[in-house]
Amino acid sequence: MKIAFLTLGCKVNSYETEKMKTQFETEGYEIVSFSEKADVYVVNTCTVTNIADRKSRKMLHRARRMNPDAVVVAAGCYVDSARQKGEEDESVDLFIGNEDKEIMISKVEKIMEKRGILNKENCPGHSVGEMSEKAEQELHTRAYIKIQNGCNQYCSYCIIPYVRGKLESRTEEDILSETKKLAAAGFHEIVLTGIHLSSFGVDREFKKTDANSFVKLQGKYLLELLQKMAQVSGIERLRLGSLEPRIITEEFVKKLAEIPEVCPHFHLSLQSGCDATLKRMNRHYSSQEYLQGVEILRKYFKDPAITTDIIVGFPGETEEEFKTTCDFAKKVSFAQIHVFKYSRRHGTVADRMEDQVDEQVKNSRSDRLLAIEAELEKQYQQKFPDQTQKVLIEEPVLIEGTKYLVGYNERYVRIAVPYEKGVSDESLCNSLIDVHINGSLEGDILLGKRERACNL
Ligand code: SF4
Repeated sequence: MKIAFLTLGCKVNSYETEKMKTQFETEGYEIVSFSEKADVYVVNTCTVTNIADRKSRKMLHRARRMNPDAVVVAAGCYVDSARQKGEEDESVDLFIGNEDKEIMISKVEKIMEKRGILNKENCPGHSVGEMSEKAEQELHTRAYIKIQNGCNQYCSYCIIPYVRGKLESRTEEDILSETKKLAAAGFHEIVLTGIHLSSFGVDREFKKTDANSFVKLQGKYLLELLQKMAQVSGIERLRLGSLEPRIITEEFVKKLAEIPEVCPHFHLSLQSGCDATLKRMNRHYSSQEYLQGVEILRKYFKDPAITTDIIVGFPGETEEEFKTTCDFAKKVSFAQIHVFKYSRRHGTVADRMEDQVDEQVKNSRSDRLLAIEAELEKQYQQKFPDQTQKVLIEEPVLIEGTKYLVGYNERYVRIAVPYEKGVSDESLCNSLIDVHINGSLEGDILLGKRERACNL
């Protein structure tokens, strides 16, 4: 049986797709590319914007066209939100919400058995949940671990708390056991992901009525977890997914900086640099508090990469408010900004707000902020020439007709070293090497010269 997966959206979805792939593989399925003919197609969907909804539907229809007899599965966030709206889609055989991803295999096989295309007794499966050797080999040099699900924040524009549910953290034992497995499989870098990473573990103590305790507890369990993960032999880098600004306190960052494995790369979701907009977004910090957090990070980490998300065209955003956000972005001097045009999500508070911003205005604001972003990114990259950077080599890549080995430094800057057959060949993939930066290539890739292999 051949099965093809396609992932849309965030890193949590990517992580969950890997899990689903492993389950199907251990049951004897062959994973094929989404452009091939398969018996089962799974689209792990996203609903964060209208465009994501549209793309999810488009991919499901594409799967149906690839093989009219295949079982087509829509999984994830779009499913949950479409259910709420009562949407149906004839090209889909099975809708699997986030809650049911882990039992998808039994639901898929029930359909196949009904259609007479699967006889389970003839399947050479193993027990579900164990990571197969092939799956391990096919994962990349950087592994993702989802440490929590759900979110209790209810930002006024966001559908996620409604489709992913309340905060739910995995146990420390469970995460550490997965970390050890990944380290044993040869991974040196782990990225911690989640829907609201900063709240990890808070659900163990948080009482609904006690908002202050909630804020106070943010970071406590995450720090403890990072300290333990760093002890796992073979783990060289721990990278944090998106953090919420309120977690950045002097106490938290000081302890974080004592863990050398933690990468100096912090994605702090800003969303707007204007306090009035932040308030309408139901984000619980001011631009000043955000800036203080950035200063703390810069005090304890050298040249940290501070990256962020910004939404333009939020309901009621005036030209003045937008300009305040642009000025703030320059003031923070972000290493990278992901710019999103506000997209109405049915059922959210912002969807019901008056003063929705015209699409043309959103497009123009997005272009203007992207121009600022390009400039800031260039400025950040200028910190590296003549420096030696530790690069985790990921893959050989052909750039402008020349072959390079490409990887990332701790600050998530992409760096290439010339490919020297017999010296820096593919055997260096998944190795950490010291690279002296001496130039740049197209597509914001820095160019460097290999110094020596780091000891692993
Ligand atoms: S913090 Fe806000 S934007 Fe992020 S998932 Fe929760 S509600 Fe959505």
